[in-house]
Amino acid sequence: MSNNPTAQTKPVINAMSIDVEDYFHVSVFDGIVPRSSWDGMESRVVRNTHRLLDIFDEYEVRSTFFVLGWVGERHPELIKRIAEAGHEVASHGYAHRLVYDQTRAAFRSDVRRAKALLDDACGRPVQGYRAPSYSITPRSLWALDVLIEEGYQYDSSIFPIRHDRYGIPVSDRRPYRIDRQAGSLIEIPGSTTQFGGLNLPVAGGGYFRILPYWWTRWGIARVNEQEHRPAVFYLHPWEIDPDQPRLDAGRLGRFRHYRNLHDTESRLRQLLSDFRFGTMQSLVTEARLAVAHDPRFALPLPYSW
Ligand SMILES: [Zn+2]
Repeated sequence: MSNNPTAQTKPVINAMSIDVEDYFHVSVFDGIVPRSSWDGMESRVVRNTHRLLDIFDEYEVRSTFFVLGWVGERHPELIKRIAEAGHEVASHGYAHRLVYDQTRAAFRSDVRRAKALLDDACGRPVQGYRAPSYSITPRSLWALDVLIEEGYQYDSSIFPIRHDRYGIPVSDRRPYRIDRQAGSLIEIPGSTTQFGGLNLPVAGGGYFRILPYWWTRWGIARVNEQEHRPAVFYLHPWEIDPDQPRLDAGRLGRFRHYRNLHDTESRLRQLLSDFRFGTMQSLVTEARLAVAHDPRFALPLPYSW
């Protein structure tokens, strides 16, 4: 039985999202595993993603899968299974390059290539994009115009936190509409909770794996109960794979990537018992409705800061 802490009131449906990439695609290994050697690496993403799909079936959860184009190109049957099981297919770009390290033209061809092959593999146009390592920052806001022009409807790449590689700490913590010259786009930020004047990430990735489970449980419950909003959770297939080959990434990189891999699947199962989850789509719809009722949910980026 679920011991959902919000079960007494109307249950909040949080968003589950998976960034579908292999262990060697992760930004921490940039420069250690060159792109030219990716095809020669032992690939584990299909097996790990099937495992996540099996777990989601078991808990009757539908998720959004932000698939790396490079993976979708090599494994279209995986994309088909994701779509046929009722999950949402979205884009994680093609080659996992940080947005702010690319030119506008290179970024455009990366997101266009990813979208074309994912649209083709799942049989419908994908709507969502999430940048590698949340790399839409004050330096790369131009990427939002490119996403709009390339037909993306929503983005989930702007994290309202301070971090060494990403984040716009002053950006809104709630979903909102970004109005740009090229048009508009719904932004669905990763979830944070406010504590001591800081926005603290509470829902996914390294924070889920490295910190004790109660942190995530407390954070999501806080967003659900105090703000009456869904949280946005994210995870990678390699995070439930303790047997993946070990790569050398320096001390901090090794800590971030390998810590608690053996525990993550059981934590995920606990999370799926404690809270309800669905795809990103309901948050996109809610954000559109929120803007229609209250123009304060539409923000003309860039901010002045
Ligand atoms: Zn990634």
